[in-house]
Amino acid sequence: MQKQRRLIIAGNWKMNKTVAEALDLVQGLKRELASLKEVDAVVCPPFTALEAVSKAILDSNIRLGAQNMSEHAGGAYTGEIAAAMLKEFSVRYVILGHSERRQYQKESDLLISRKALAAHAAAIKPIVCVGETLEERESGRTEKIIGSQLEGSLAGFSKEQMQETVLAYEPVWAIGTGRNATPQQAQEVHAFIRQTLVTLFDDAVAKRVRVQYGGSVKASNARELMSQPDVDGALVGGAALEIRSFSDIIKNSI
Ligand code: PEP
Repeated sequence: MQKQRRLIIAGNWKMNKTVAEALDLVQGLKRELASLKEVDAVVCPPFTALEAVSKAILDSNIRLGAQNMSEHAGGAYTGEIAAAMLKEFSVRYVILGHSERRQYQKESDLLISRKALAAHAAAIKPIVCVGETLEERESGRTEKIIGSQLEGSLAGFSKEQMQETVLAYEPVWAIGTGRNATPQQAQEVHAFIRQTLVTLFDDAVAKRVRVQYGGSVKASNARELMSQPDVDGALVGGAALEIRSFSDIIKNSI
C-alpha cells in the first residue's frame, strides 16, 4: 500500500564528529543520495558542525537538524542555544525530548513542550521523541507512558503546529542496544500514537503527522520497519555515523 505520508529519515549524530569528520560524512551522503527524491533525509550534527554542514548541503537534497535547543529566545542561559541561532544555519528540524536528554538532563514533558513551542515560533520543525523503558514495557505500561508523554510534550500545540511536528517513537530498550523493536511491536505503538493524536487533536491531524521509529535501525531491518502502515520514517543513531549504513537505510526504505 502506498503511504500517503512522505518518509522522513533523520540521523542523530549525538556527541560524535569533529567538523572535518562531519564534512567527510556529509560529502559522502551527498554523493550516495544525489538522486534521492522519495524520502526526506535529515542530518543532525553537533552544534559545532552545523555551520560547516549547512554550507556543504546547500546544493543538495539533505536537510539540516539540530539535537536540542533552548525554550528561551535569548539571554542569560549559559551553555544554551536559541532557535534564532539555529536559524542562522538554515536548521529545519530539531530533536527534542530524546530519551538521553530525558534521562541525563532530567528533561520533563513540560520543558519539551516549551522547547517545541519555541521551535514552532521560529519555524523550525520539532522532532518530539517518546518511548518506554524495558521495565515499563514488561509491566504492561507502554501505552500509559507513551500517552502521558504525548499529552505533556504536545501541550499547548495548535492543530497547525501539530501538523508541522514530527514524532519519534523510540523504545528506550532499543536505543543503541542492537535490539530493535519488531515491526509488529513498532506498528502497535505507532497505531496507538496515531489514535492518541485523534483524541488530542483530530482525525485529519492524526492522518498527517509523521511518526518515525528509532532504536537500532540498520540497513537490514529498515525495509520491514518502514513498510508498517503507521511507520513514516526513522530516527537513526549509531548507523547514521557512516556513509554506507545511513545511505543504505534510506535506499532500503524506498
Ligand atoms: C537514537 O539515539 O535516537 C537511536 C535511535 O540510536 P540507535 O539507532 O543507535 O539505536
